[in-house]
Amino acid sequence: MPEFRHNLITGHWVILAENRGGRPQEVDVQQIVRPQSVCVFCEGHENRTPSEVFAIRSAGSQANGPGWRVRVVPNKFPALEFADDFPALRPLPGNGEGVETAPGVGVHEIVIESPRHLSSITELADEDVGEIFEAYRQRLAALRETKKYRSAVVFKNGGPTAGATLIHLHSQLIAFQTGGPVIGERLVQFESYQQQFGKCPLCQTISEFAGGERSVVAATENFAAFCPFASRFAYEMWIAPRRHAAHFDTTTPETLRELGALLRRVLVKLERIVKLPAYNYIVHTAPFDTSGSDHYHWHIEILPRTTSLAGFELGVGCYINTVGPERAATALRGA
Ligand SMILES: [Zn+2]
Ligand SMILES: [Zn+2]
Repeated sequence: MPEFRHNLITGHWVILAENRGGRPQEVDVQQIVRPQSVCVFCEGHENRTPSEVFAIRSAGSQANGPGWRVRVVPNKFPALEFADDFPALRPLPGNGEGVETAPGVGVHEIVIESPRHLSSITELADEDVGEIFEAYRQRLAALRETKKYRSAVVFKNGGPTAGATLIHLHSQLIAFQTGGPVIGERLVQFESYQQQFGKCPLCQTISEFAGGERSVVAATENFAAFCPFASRFAYEMWIAPRRHAAHFDTTTPETLRELGALLRRVLVKLERIVKLPAYNYIVHTAPFDTSGSDHYHWHIEILPRTTSLAGFELGVGCYINTVGPERAATALRGA
């Protein structure tokens, strides 16, 4: 019998319907993309991107030249654009009551994750993945410092079926003038759980792992990787700090190296089960303004895209997952 499950943190519902899916090996896989003749993200092509806003470089190398390991540049085709002033949400005259608009103000950056033309994080060394997280941390901290933005999200589209348009390893950072709709929903979920039960739902989840919880995939001293109780996607994994922390950018660089190694390790496991997996990962961190958001617990969601969203998901907002989290975690632990 399929089972409805509710996710405490995102508020969404899923239907676990394991009888409905094929075996893990039968899932769709990412299409292989032929390398482009000229890749704008490769080392040596720095003049083909906008000027860098941040880079981790070898000593003595010049900005916008070779010698970098991670490089952050403004997106040439941004979803939101920089502006000095932040006009508020306002009614749109002549469009009926309740119709509001606001200029798409914000920051949209690309984090180029390797100077080499690679397409999977698993091709990098652990410390290289740690440096990607260090770039996220420094950009988030710098954007918070400007006091111009209220929140930010970092995400990766890995593979064409997960929305990637360029194969070269990269992720994206978007900072919003507003709280951002998704972050807003999560804040409410954390807050209402806190009010109802007097604790953080993610801390609660992680404390259960001490008792040998079946959904753990891997853990380190500071982080746990697990398949959430109401997983939307087959082999969905979340990574969260084991000690409560609202903001990703308060993590120390040493701890980020540990996080990098853990992310790489769980992605290697995923690749052993799903050949050439397409996936998204999203770093969910509390809004920059700490007041009223300390109950948030930052986390990374890894969402393998083994099937595409269909009518039921889009129409009802409820996901059907054919590989339950307990089964997924068992497979990933053993991979
Ligand atoms: Zn490249
Ligand atoms: Zn917590």
